[in-house]
Amino acid sequence: MLEAKLTTKTHADHRTVVNLSHQVAIGGSAIVVIGGPCTVESLEQMEQVARSLSTVSISALRGGVYKPRTSPYSFQGMGVDGLRILASVRQAYGLPVVTEVMSIGQIDPVATYADMLQVGSRNMQNFELLKALGSVNKPILLKRGLAATIEEFVMAAEYIMAHGNPNVVLCERGIRSFDPYTRNVLDLGAVVALKQLTHLPVIIDPSHAAGKRELVPDLARAAIAAGADGLIIECHPEPEKSVSDARQALSLETMQELVQSVTAIATAVGRSLHQPPVASNQLVAIG
Ligand code: PEP
Ligand code: MN
Repeated sequence: MLEAKLTTKTHADHRTVVNLSHQVAIGGSAIVVIGGPCTVESLEQMEQVARSLSTVSISALRGGVYKPRTSPYSFQGMGVDGLRILASVRQAYGLPVVTEVMSIGQIDPVATYADMLQVGSRNMQNFELLKALGSVNKPILLKRGLAATIEEFVMAAEYIMAHGNPNVVLCERGIRSFDPYTRNVLDLGAVVALKQLTHLPVIIDPSHAAGKRELVPDLARAAIAAGADGLIIECHPEPEKSVSDARQALSLETMQELVQSVTAIATAVGRSLHQPPVASNQLVAIG
């Protein structure tokens, strides 16, 4: 591996545990499941998601407020209003939140409200962004580029760490290939390789890999069997009405069933499922 220094695993038990909150850690014995819509659309939507998922062993919520859309005419995200929505469900349900940061200018607002900052596939080699995230005091969820090699992925993590932030979680989210039947191809070989090469936690995103909701639960379970430390999955109260990535969004009921079914796989590979914190469920306005 090209000059990798900080990401390299030096002995068999070498693993980094990344804390998302006092209760949630990624990379320990507990498997984490992060769930939520592709895009934050309203307080009501996020409230429905949080209420439903907090009844199962969900570890954190996701939802994009700065969206990397293929078309400049598509909805680009709620921005700071969306961050405030994430902050209020975070507080009400005691669940950490993960959201994407696309530019250096977005780092401050995102780091103010979110518990983990996501670098999307399209920005995996935005080296100036990676360097700037090195000085952020929050964990980074680094998603693999659409066509990035494992070496390029590891070196992107190395950038963040070399600039001062050791709390990096790697996310395999499928790579582009020739077959349009699935949106991307979930590379489970990369999960195994990354766990052998690096000491960083590795989670998988079966939603963007598959692009079709009916493929997501089986891929999620396969990833846990292959040694992934967690899952990040898109779900929505009304999947067909999602403003983005509707085709891959799970219903909240399917998401609940999936989380429950992961428990048996986790046990089979000597892991457990993270237990959710007790929440107050009081929504408060965050200004
Ligand atoms: C997302 O998480 O909604 C997203 C845009 O993911 P990716 O960067 O993996 O395409
Ligand atoms: Mn999405």
